Amino acid sequence: MKVFKFGGASVSSGDAVRNSVNILKMYPGDKVLVISAMGKTTNALEVVARKYFNQDPEMWTAFQDVKAYHQGIVSELWGAPTELPELEKLFEQLNNRITGERSLNFDYEYDQIVSFGELFSTLIISLYFNKIGLKNHWIDVRNCLKTDDLYREANVDWELSASLAKQVFTFEFDDLYITQGFLGGTSTNQTTTLGREGSDYTAAILANLLDAEDVSIWKNVPGILNADPDFFKNTQKLDELSYKEAIELSYSGAKVIHPKTIKPLQNKNIPLLVKSFLEPEATGTIIHSLEHSLELVPVIIVKNNMALITLSPDDFSFISINTVSDVFSLFAKFRLKVGLIQQSAIDLSLAFDEPEKGIESLISQLQEKFEVKYNTGLDLVTIRYYTPESVTEITNGRTLYIEQKSRRTARMLLK
Ligand code: ASP
Ligand code: MG
Repeated sequence: MKVFKFGGASVSSGDAVRNSVNILKMYPGDKVLVISAMGKTTNALEVVARKYFNQDPEMWTAFQDVKAYHQGIVSELWGAPTELPELEKLFEQLNNRITGERSLNFDYEYDQIVSFGELFSTLIISLYFNKIGLKNHWIDVRNCLKTDDLYREANVDWELSASLAKQVFTFEFDDLYITQGFLGGTSTNQTTTLGREGSDYTAAILANLLDAEDVSIWKNVPGILNADPDFFKNTQKLDELSYKEAIELSYSGAKVIHPKTIKPLQNKNIPLLVKSFLEPEATGTIIHSLEHSLELVPVIIVKNNMALITLSPDDFSFISINTVSDVFSLFAKFRLKVGLIQQSAIDLSLAFDEPEKGIESLISQLQEKFEVKYNTGLDLVTIRYYTPESVTEITNGRTLYIEQKSRRTARMLLK
């Protein structure tokens, strides 16, 4: 059995969906197809969720836009405006949800609303495939991918999910299953999500639970490149990577794969292929277990919107292990992911993704014990397999806040 993952861009229009049919036809045999929300639907539903939570009546316009976009794709696929009763039912469910009274938990409300993106996409695609004779079975992943109730970043209950998934994906009558990326369900059947761009992770989870042969992720790039082609010239495709290297790259902020994706595959030695839906015959990038070490060209990963905080204890004491532990507990409480740390005798610097809500309340808590200096809007650039030239190219003419180098990796925090 193979797991396929189609991201938002690969199903963003009628033509794109038709193209995905051709890709599936290239691979006979049992398949699980994990699909993201169409195009930029998740962003659009985030707007609905925010406006709903703020009781802003403009949420109705945002909702209508999402509805119209999906109806447009249905028209394209069916050749004329067509009402699909199952889809209308989902629109009505979302309509009812935002008509109702909201709770006080934004993250909960967010998941209940944003999750509709994957429900819409998988339903439309499943119905369309059936219509054209590509027989398939639609699965509500929330019934078998079980998680805790950490909304917007739910943790998988592996044991429970394994037994449920095996009961659902039996391949007894069908060889193609279609299901949602990004979503999960709690033991009390509340909808959760796995974090933005989490559909890759879903594909890896299902592959692990069902012992898939391999996973392929279909993108609008030829594979994993050594730098983002939107910002760098002369990028090169990396033909193969080890699991370990792929984890390093995605953890540093490479956007091509979600950081949590690799581990569940590595644990069962399942290869991951990153391929282009525009050139399905091309080889793409393969991530698998590699005995030999790779000598790669410099691989550049840029993370924007980083914040840097530098702390010095108010009482002029040294930075101790207890200081570090206190600061990290506070960061965990604010759910902040630290990307870079630097410590000296009297100060501690941490770089992290700037949270949506800003850093004011974090700073005011830190100010109880420390003198705090901070900067926002920085870039954290990681270069794996760096060369002196590649470092110069990145740092030239920019203010450098922190630079760290190991044998393989250079990391720079820059304005
Ligand atoms: N639709 C979700 C998102 O855009 C999940 C995904 O695309 O992987 O974040
Ligand atoms: Mg998406």
